Amino acid sequence: MAGEHDLIIIGGGAAGLSAAQYGARANLDTLLVEEMATGGQALLIDGLENYPGLVQPVNGYEFSEAMRSQAERFGAAFLTASVTAIKKEGDSFVLSTTEGELRSKAVILATGAKHRHLGVEGEERLAGRGVSYCATCDGPFFKGKRIWVVGGGDSACDEAQYLAKLSPQVSMVHRKDRFRAQPAVAGRVLSNPSIKVRFNSVLREIRGEKKVESVLVENLLTHEVSEEGADAVFVFVGSIPQSGLAAAAGARLEETGFIVTGAKMETSVRGLFAAGDVRDTPFRQIVTACSDGAIAAHSAAQYIDELRGRSYR
Ligand code: NAP
Repeated sequence: MAGEHDLIIIGGGAAGLSAAQYGARANLDTLLVEEMATGGQALLIDGLENYPGLVQPVNGYEFSEAMRSQAERFGAAFLTASVTAIKKEGDSFVLSTTEGELRSKAVILATGAKHRHLGVEGEERLAGRGVSYCATCDGPFFKGKRIWVVGGGDSACDEAQYLAKLSPQVSMVHRKDRFRAQPAVAGRVLSNPSIKVRFNSVLREIRGEKKVESVLVENLLTHEVSEEGADAVFVFVGSIPQSGLAAAAGARLEETGFIVTGAKMETSVRGLFAAGDVRDTPFRQIVTACSDGAIAAHSAAQYIDELRGRSYR
């Protein structure tokens, strides 16, 4: 890992893995740094069904492993480490990591986003004791039990569908009068007899001594609050971008914390690119993350050619 790489990609989700494949295939000395297992949020998908070309759903873990093997086949290297800082020195980036210092000509930030918490009483205390942010990880512990799902986006609807395979007692709470999720995803929830949906409602508190026992749900139209029996609460209320490194490197962020990029995935810092869920983008899917990664790697290759005075005009 010593010496200066052409391209370092930080983050091993779909955007990072795609960038690694495209970077290596463009003949760049490419290193992907990831602090956990590669695959990112795709690892949690039970059946990936909307990636183009997949006629039958594919398990997210298997899909991610195939992406990694493909990138390795083209020569991308992988390192397990946390990146703690990035700074630019002349035309190089210097990355401080838990495995020592790394240098590269270009960097792609594909650090993704983490789950937003609801912020209600009982949530933190009962996390891991019935409160969860991952249905495929924790759902099987609650087979046949009373499961509550909070949120109205694609994640909440997809995960509720998954949980409804495990229990006929799934209740969803969403603060608006309809779902934010894509119509096809929302439609499946609404027609699922195992899922009861409460629109215009919010979850105010999660109760229980040592594990989840009940929830307080407020109807926003009547302001009535009811206590309902519960064994598990799955929270899917959006995500928070992991853009701290970008901010520290001087890249421009939106007020929401997502990284501002141009059409070539370039940030406001030359040589620093961003791809996937961490950037400001209207649609977050595996297919769009892969597209971002491919464009970012291509742009990084062009940038490096310019540095070397070899750009094609
Ligand atoms: P999201 O689209 O931001 O939806 C978050 C949901 O949580 C919204 O319905 C929001 O309500 C609600 N919410 C936020 N804060 C809340 C709070 N404090 N209390 C109660 N409710 C709250 O997030 P996501 O569902 O995690 O999806 C993230 C991205 O990944 C999206 O771009 C999505 O399309 C994509 N994704 C796609 C798929 C798929 O294609 N199958 C699957 C998963 C995710 P409001 O609607 O009122 O804002």
